[in-house]
Amino acid sequence: MINSIFRLIDTHAHLDEIEDLDRVIEEAKQVGLVAVIAVGQDYESNVKILEMSEEYKGFVYPALGLHPWNLGNMDASKVDLTLHLIEDNIEKAVGIGEIGLDYDKRVVAAADKERQKEAFKTVLELARRYNKPVSVHARYSWKDSFDLVKASGVIRAVFHWYTGFSSVLREIIAEGYFISATPATEYHDEHRRAVRETPIENLLLETDCPVTYGRETKYQSRPADIVRSLRAVAQLKVMSEQTIADRTTQNAVAFFSLTGKIEKA
Ligand SMILES: [Zn+2]
Repeated sequence: MINSIFRLIDTHAHLDEIEDLDRVIEEAKQVGLVAVIAVGQDYESNVKILEMSEEYKGFVYPALGLHPWNLGNMDASKVDLTLHLIEDNIEKAVGIGEIGLDYDKRVVAAADKERQKEAFKTVLELARRYNKPVSVHARYSWKDSFDLVKASGVIRAVFHWYTGFSSVLREIIAEGYFISATPATEYHDEHRRAVRETPIENLLLETDCPVTYGRETKYQSRPADIVRSLRAVAQLKVMSEQTIADRTTQNAVAFFSLTGKIEKA
């Protein structure tokens, strides 16, 4: 296999949920990935991600998080323990994420909106204090998520896999925040609209692996599927894949402060 001409960064991957990581990382490098941002969601996944970032040093970079999906299974002391873990390892983290709000009714039934907001505000405050970028999950909570990020004073934020209203997207862009494009850019109408409406200056690429994508043919994603995000974005924006690759990688390097860390980045 020849090495790709692209240099890409997967800015949001759940590597702790991926099996056979050695092989998966080798495949990722073959398609041109130069870095993967591994995002955590709870105490256990944050610990795993910190370990992986040591094992694959210079390729896997940790973001430590507290996902709204996990709050329902955590009591107050576990939340506290997770927040302490994040703060204790903040210097190793290139970002805080995955964090955010999810207003899907099943998620709200497990952890109500107030509880989600309280946890979100606490991690945003950590990000602000240590000047870390945040990777935000904002499903059905786009406006509230944006408002809380803005109010927190956090300067760098990416609303990952954005599918929300154009009105909120305009606020995201005006604030200098980002959205990231997943492989669902190939077919998902709301996500395609968001990618189309976002200037390349405010765009990152990601896979959110191991999420299952596809309309007719379904597949479980890996970081190497970043090329699907790339290709779909290039087609939508009628720009070359090279231009999209160069610009989104440049954005990701600046966003996660990776200058000098990645070879020739
Ligand atoms: Zn995710």
